[in-house]
Amino acid sequence: MWQEEFKNALKTHEDLEQFFEHSFARTNYPLFIPRVFAQKIKDKGLNSSLALQFLPAVAENSKVGRYDPIGDKTYSKGNQLIHRYHNRALFTPTTVCPVMCRYCFRKNELADKDELFNQNFKEALNYLKENPQINEIIFTGGDPLILSNEKLAGFIQDFAEIESLKYIRFHSRTPVILPSRIDDGFIEIMTSARFLFKRAMLMIHVNHVDEIDYEFEAGIERLVEAGIEVYSQTVLLKNVNDKTSTLASLFTKLSDLKIKPYYLHHPDEVLGGMHFYLPLETGRRIVQPLHDLLPGWSLPQYVIDIPGGEGKISALNPEQFEFSGTLLNRHGEKITLSHHIPSFV
Ligand code: SF4
Repeated sequence: MWQEEFKNALKTHEDLEQFFEHSFARTNYPLFIPRVFAQKIKDKGLNSSLALQFLPAVAENSKVGRYDPIGDKTYSKGNQLIHRYHNRALFTPTTVCPVMCRYCFRKNELADKDELFNQNFKEALNYLKENPQINEIIFTGGDPLILSNEKLAGFIQDFAEIESLKYIRFHSRTPVILPSRIDDGFIEIMTSARFLFKRAMLMIHVNHVDEIDYEFEAGIERLVEAGIEVYSQTVLLKNVNDKTSTLASLFTKLSDLKIKPYYLHHPDEVLGGMHFYLPLETGRRIVQPLHDLLPGWSLPQYVIDIPGGEGKISALNPEQFEFSGTLLNRHGEKITLSHHIPSFV
């Protein structure tokens, strides 16, 4: 049962060192790895793409980077909703995750249990009713799939009563970390959501083909058979998946599983996560050849979140860049990026 695996996770420095028989750097950020996933990391080795993503590193103590790199706070409505785009809103029902990803763009907010997650569901519902231009609700977090099936079903039912909401989407890393989370109850919930909304979508966060195992594949097969739309999002991470061939293998594998690769995110300038950062020019050199290697239906959009909360733009679209490499926002205004990333400005 995924709940048991969740409860028995490695949570302290001592747990971690005992399990891996290795010493690790102490950082200011929480630790959390379910043992079943820790075993996968152990099997792949301490220099593997899995180890780099989930085991603590001394570089996390660096003071470089942004606390809130994509400006969630600017667009937070103080009621678990982030309203950045005209017709869609993010809903953050929990600060809990199935694992602590060391590169996470919300790692500082999650560590501080930021006000972004203040619970006020009634207010959230009222906000959505007062803003009928919002037609899509996107569950994020933390990780919404860490909530019980009953809790998820309750939220879905309440959102279904808001007429203006046509689409519902769940962003989650849980199916990768705890594949047993794709249980009968969850499949039922997603199936009923398909009928309550025009579309119900699951967007799975997956960064490397080594994260995919037989149990994950079996869970996805069941979701797909039940008619659920499954998408993926991937973060480009230095030393983890920053090779064209690594990304090509991942997107091919996902497509074979009938998961549509949707977003490839350029890494954010995260405080405590800058060791995963790479310059935009490097990212573009890695991503551009994918257009030759993969068909369009296997290719995600390569996007960058403009620091400060302006939202996502295409990271490849030359119209959004001046010749010097200066970044322009959606209104054609120049964006100043941090001076500590010289190759980026
Ligand atoms: S599961 Fe998602 S929100 Fe949680 S730490 Fe990982 S990337 Fe961040």
